[in-house]
Amino acid sequence: MHDELIIGIDLGGTNIKGALVDSGGHIISKQKAATLANTGPRAVAERISRIIGDLESQAAAAGKKVAGIGVGIPGQADQTRGTVFFAPNLHWRDVPLVEYLRSRTILPVYLENDANAAALGEQWLGAGRGSVNMVMITIGTGIGGGLILNGSLYSGTNGSAGEVGHMVIDPDGPLCSCGQRGCLETLTSATAMVRMAKEAIDQGKKTILAREENLEARDIVMAAQAEDKVALLIIDVAARYLGMGLGNVINLFNPDTIVIGGGVSKAGDILFEPLRREAVKRSLEAPARVVKIVPAELGNDAGCIGAAKLVLLTAD
Ligand SMILES: [Zn+2]
Repeated sequence: MHDELIIGIDLGGTNIKGALVDSGGHIISKQKAATLANTGPRAVAERISRIIGDLESQAAAAGKKVAGIGVGIPGQADQTRGTVFFAPNLHWRDVPLVEYLRSRTILPVYLENDANAAALGEQWLGAGRGSVNMVMITIGTGIGGGLILNGSLYSGTNGSAGEVGHMVIDPDGPLCSCGQRGCLETLTSATAMVRMAKEAIDQGKKTILAREENLEARDIVMAAQAEDKVALLIIDVAARYLGMGLGNVINLFNPDTIVIGGGVSKAGDILFEPLRREAVKRSLEAPARVVKIVPAELGNDAGCIGAAKLVLLTAD
């Protein structure tokens, strides 16, 4: 498959990203379209097909074949049936995505959870290069997780392993989209940080965040870097909750590397110092001694690159 190319698709709640990738993981071309999830699964599949079609034409124009298509989806994928079991952000349940795509392409299509795909990408070419036991945690609207154990992606019995965002940290905490209370993602996701900022503003705390109309987590990161006290406190609280979650992860898996992705991971030492401190405090000495906690390196490309890697792994 050395001179063949691969297509990696990252299906998100907002955008569909596609990349034409070579067998070394270099991106040759990228495409993007709005997901428009409210138009329904068939219409979304049609937009994915269009991206695949464009990327296939570009490969053909370069005189190359495409070996297959990997698709990262924001939910649980049932690889054997080629369906999306559940994707809450898209409001999808039991969607036969591979069948929908199959009507437009004869190439093999592989589905995987998006956080798992990102974990594969980071282990292949990003912050987890050379890692054997790696946990990837992505902080966004929710919190996603992917596990690489003994060098391979571990997706569990039916594709739903690694959901670190739903480990319960505070049984009396905020209600989570999954129905539980106090899941990690209700305490430390981008959404949770924005909620904390709004509460502080409502309480009349002095902060430059009060000026923002559509407050986002990145505004909090920027305010913290400008030494805004409220923003610094929010990042510190979020880092400590995340550190508790990491302590559990470290004790369970004894990983060599934990990669933190998502926009918030760009916060630097403001986030990583309290995070590392809390993670070490909350875990046993032996696993804490060997683990590295590092920011992701591939940014928005991790999903597409990891989805492409899926094809290489499955086709080998
Ligand atoms: Zn939950």
